Amino acid sequence: DTIGANLDRAVAAWPDREALVDVPSGRRWTYARFAADVEELAQALVASGVGKGDRVGIWTVNCPEWVLVQYATARIGAIMVNINPAYRTHEVEYVLGQAGISLLFASLSHRTSDYRAMVEQVRGRCPELREVVYIGDPSWAALLERGTGDAVYERLSCDDPINIQYTSGTTGFPKGATLSHHNILNNGYFVGELIAYTEQDRICVPVPFYHCFGMVMGNLAATSHGACMVIPAPSFDPEATLEAVQRERCTSLYGVPTMFIAELNLPDFASYDLSTLRTGIMAGSPCPVEVMKRVVAEMHMEEVSICYGMTETSPVSLQTRRDDDLEHRTATVGRVLPHLEVKVVDPVTGVTQPRGTAGELCTRGYSVMLGYWNEPEKTAEAVDAARWMHTGDLAVMREDGYVEIVGRIKDMIIRGGENVYPREIEEFLYAHPGIRDVQVVGVPHERYGEEVLACVILRDPAEPLSLEDLRAFCRDRLAHYKIPSRLQILDSFPMTVSGKVRKVELREKYGL
Ligand code: ATP
Ligand code: MG
Repeated sequence: DTIGANLDRAVAAWPDREALVDVPSGRRWTYARFAADVEELAQALVASGVGKGDRVGIWTVNCPEWVLVQYATARIGAIMVNINPAYRTHEVEYVLGQAGISLLFASLSHRTSDYRAMVEQVRGRCPELREVVYIGDPSWAALLERGTGDAVYERLSCDDPINIQYTSGTTGFPKGATLSHHNILNNGYFVGELIAYTEQDRICVPVPFYHCFGMVMGNLAATSHGACMVIPAPSFDPEATLEAVQRERCTSLYGVPTMFIAELNLPDFASYDLSTLRTGIMAGSPCPVEVMKRVVAEMHMEEVSICYGMTETSPVSLQTRRDDDLEHRTATVGRVLPHLEVKVVDPVTGVTQPRGTAGELCTRGYSVMLGYWNEPEKTAEAVDAARWMHTGDLAVMREDGYVEIVGRIKDMIIRGGENVYPREIEEFLYAHPGIRDVQVVGVPHERYGEEVLACVILRDPAEPLSLEDLRAFCRDRLAHYKIPSRLQILDSFPMTVSGKVRKVELREKYGL
């Protein structure tokens, strides 16, 4: 099916149910009103000369217009290009040119970001960019006025490219994955199916729409099950998130582990009524056991799902099920999704590993991207001739079909010939009472090739932690080669917009 046809079905089934709520502005849409606004915008785009296959950029923090643009472009077959709201002129100019964007939707400004000023600076250097429409500005209304209401849409196929989504840029420069209706709509549908979403559900989405987590597991999962999306704030704010859950009686809450940690650490956390929550999704990076315990017990998310995926696979390929126990929810990322295949191979020989042995995780099926936009060589490196996507992640397939993520191949530390997996050490150090958050990276060492550096955020900055304390905590409990030989105390970690720690930056900064 196409995304447009899927929305038609939602409107027919649940016209009067709420589809979208924007908490900051108080605006609300039923499915009928949402579809009417999508239609109006789609008509205006056609009248502005935007057709099938044309690239339409969107550069804004979360707002309802984001979702309208998403569905309107899908309706007419234009390819929406998600642009990271953290980008600055250099990067946005690159994306505008690389994707050949002809029409750009942008925020005016947010906090210290003046999007309009940045767009105006680069506009002259982007010959393909014909028009810029600012959200919350007269140019939005002017665009809508152009719609005639009788424009005819081109014929679409569910295999048409519909979206270019960039990866998080955790390990380097982000890559633009080109995805079809079929890719992302099915993924949103099946993720929602495993959570058992119905039209009774209200999903609080504090993760950026820019990233696949927000737009596929958020928007598309919601509309394909008649659920309501709740936008708590333009960008992540732990207080606004819990307030939105309480006020809008949300049943589901999304986030990467660092977001849940920020919410649980709010001084007045206990004062929020979160009793309407039953489920949610935690994804993007590994979740410490202690955090998962509190999410289940104190946020009432008894059915919370852990999802594993990547932008290139639309994104989710593994997910825990509603009744999985704590062990499966923290040590594993669940089982393969319906209609997808996964395997774990020896990264060197490509031979499938026996269960229980680590290797590179590969995914195949409907969710694998069409390719990286205009980068056939990079596509060929990632997707092999048999259409297996090579994830770059190390994983173990258990006997029971559940998959453990061991870490990224690029993050693995090789110290004096021993393979060290940062995740294992992080999980261990997280139990230290003085440590609030910790990241472990490998840094160059003359003799051992690499050594283990622990970057730590203290629970209480007045209670210092020395390398000696840290090593004493590990002694006799971890193998000697896993014990950090260097310690760096930090106030915060460098993060991507999707909430992941950029270990490359930690390595570059503190590796010398
Ligand atoms: P880039 O590819 O630009 O370096 P990225 O890989 O972080 O960035 P995404 O597509 O947003 O970009 O993220 C996919 C990656 O996130 C996966 O390859 C995996 O390493 C990690 N990941 C996703 N979900 C989980 C999870 N539940 N547990 C552990 N790691 C996860
Ligand atoms: Mg990646």
